[in-house]
Amino acid sequence: MSNSCSGCPSASSCSGSCPSQPELTEAQKASNVKNVIAVMSGKGGVGKSSVTGMLAVSLNRQGFKVGILDADITGPSIPKIFGIQTKVNANEIGIIPAVSSQGIKLISLNLMIVNEDDPVVWRGPIISQLVKQFWTDVVWGELDYLLVDLPPGTGDVPISVFQSLPVDGVVIVTSPQQLTNMVIRKAIKMANMYKANFYGLIENMAYAECPDCHKRIEIFGQPVGEREASKNGIPYLGELPIDPKLTELSDAGRIEEYMSDKFEHIAQKLIARSQEKQAKTDL
Ligand code: ADP
Repeated sequence: MSNSCSGCPSASSCSGSCPSQPELTEAQKASNVKNVIAVMSGKGGVGKSSVTGMLAVSLNRQGFKVGILDADITGPSIPKIFGIQTKVNANEIGIIPAVSSQGIKLISLNLMIVNEDDPVVWRGPIISQLVKQFWTDVVWGELDYLLVDLPPGTGDVPISVFQSLPVDGVVIVTSPQQLTNMVIRKAIKMANMYKANFYGLIENMAYAECPDCHKRIEIFGQPVGEREASKNGIPYLGELPIDPKLTELSDAGRIEEYMSDKFEHIAQKLIARSQEKQAKTDL
């Protein structure tokens, strides 16, 4: 995506010769975001925010410049898992994102309100407008990847993200419960309505490993991620175990210290998919 198209929701599918490009804000002119990835789940609690956070950490470890746009406005957990409490600032150009200890740029409503415990009791259109502003008014600067942590389901925010952000690819996070998989199909169908390009499906909490005998225990039943991915015609990125260390470090705001080959592997597949997509767009 060229910088001049970075405000246009159709940027990923048009030839770049659109006569009526929306006027860019000063923040957009100062930014060049190469890849926007929306992370979706059908329902809450499947680990979407944790997976978003860890994908950002893995991409950052591999040398990419990464940001996270926390679009889960009413249930934001990104600042907490990265241990960020300082409020974001703005200058004459726009809002300056917070930066994690490893250099990941973050924006979240929780970095703007006085008390992080205060609920956001806002109507959908106001929340949607805020999410759009997280794209148009934030000075993201140079980014290889911007991960958008969507709220679960198919409500106002996912709709406005698909309509107003140039989403390059979608990652679906699910877990093995049957109910989750029924709901995830709705999210996939919705993304399809916006002609989303699926980077793939990740099955989180697929199993736990006994710390003594290392036996695999499928707590929520048999993983079905690979089958669901193929049934819905989207790539399968892999499975992740339930790991108490991830919960512990996330709760302590130290997710960047979590190490897992599984995440690194999934991040590599994600990079490959985004590069394939980029190559197709450049043709
Ligand atoms: P969601 O964004 O889907 O609502 P979260 O990412 O907030 O879910 O995760 C819900 C809870 O589950 C958090 O306490 C998180 O630390 C924990 N969690 C998520 N994935 C894992 C995992 N693979 N292993 C252990 N705990 C996890």
